[in-house]
Amino acid sequence: MENERIFLSTPTMHGEEKEFIKEAFDTNWIAPLGKNVDEFEKELASYVGVSNAAALASGTSALHLAAILSDIKQDDIVFCSDLTFSATVNPVSYEKGRQVFIDSERETWNMDPKALEKAFEKYPNPKAVIIVNLYGVPAKLDEIRDICKKHNTILIEDAAESLGAKYKGKQTGTFGEFGVFSFNGNKIITTSGGGMLVSEDEKMIKKARFLATQAREPFPYYQHEEIGYNYRMSNVVAGIGRGQLIHLDEHKAKKEEIYNIYKEGLSNLPLTMNPYPECSEPNFWLSCILIDKDCKVKPLDIIQKLGEHNIEARHIWKPMHMQPVFDGYDYIISEKDSVSEDIFERGLCLPSDIKMTLEQQNRVIEIIKECFYV
Ligand SMILES: *Cc1c(COP(=O)(O)O)cnc(C)c1O
Repeated sequence: MENERIFLSTPTMHGEEKEFIKEAFDTNWIAPLGKNVDEFEKELASYVGVSNAAALASGTSALHLAAILSDIKQDDIVFCSDLTFSATVNPVSYEKGRQVFIDSERETWNMDPKALEKAFEKYPNPKAVIIVNLYGVPAKLDEIRDICKKHNTILIEDAAESLGAKYKGKQTGTFGEFGVFSFNGNKIITTSGGGMLVSEDEKMIKKARFLATQAREPFPYYQHEEIGYNYRMSNVVAGIGRGQLIHLDEHKAKKEEIYNIYKEGLSNLPLTMNPYPECSEPNFWLSCILIDKDCKVKPLDIIQKLGEHNIEARHIWKPMHMQPVFDGYDYIISEKDSVSEDIFERGLCLPSDIKMTLEQQNRVIEIIKECFYV
């Protein structure tokens, strides 16, 4: 159908999800918690190769708990990826800390290790570093981890977009003290909404589960010695996650295929795909393009043109240092000009829905070509 909408990324369900939900209904373990939650935690931990996981209401709540467990408090400095979704950095504000934004490098679009080193020169004692693996492409994770180790600083890895991606053979989300995943509706697998906090530190994950269930102390009555949250994942939602996890590798393979079809189909145009180094294996969550400098075509021209054909495309995340809400916050770059700003101004995300047919994708490619040939 010519006019059926082509989406950026929507849920793809398979059937097993219903089986796990049915079990929750049949045993009346709708809530709270239950077998699906326990098993989903174990299965995800085993998939990424980490010892402990806590299933939570969202990726954002996982990031918030990581911030609390990293002891981020009022006026603490936290180095954060500049080019990301605001959810990566907002939890620092929840705890009244102060973000210092770090520019991107060009090879992965993620945090620039050189700019991070510079930030440590200016602020020797940050509480933590929060990095993201944008659009499923791993950051320079070992370099960043080494810098954090050298400075004795906690690393929080926002792997919300990169579940299943690997860096030098190791799964993303496992490089820092804390790793965060999201199962929001547009992510590579979804539970409708949900998240996971992972760590090698069992005490921290137990603490996360405790804080996520209203910080109820083990007393016969309700006793509270800390401020708690209602951040746990429900047993029904976890059932969807268990069914989805079975298909993660399949989703990843399909996303990679989409990326390669764009790469081939758009190869003669003045643009490049979102890059990744050979040592990494992205999950290709979203295929993005960067229009060459000095080209007259702008991201909005393509987004609008695709929109006229009922096709969804989006701008790259607007850098945090450009956001009005973070006006006046420090921002560290290592190059002459801001890299993240440049990527924002020249880049866009293409429809990467794994239910998109080859015929539909070819149509997207033809429309993009038309934008350059007029
Ligand atoms: C989706 C996303 C989040 C937030 O996850 P939710 O589950 O929607 O709360 C955080 N960081 C990044 C980079 C994301 O893309």
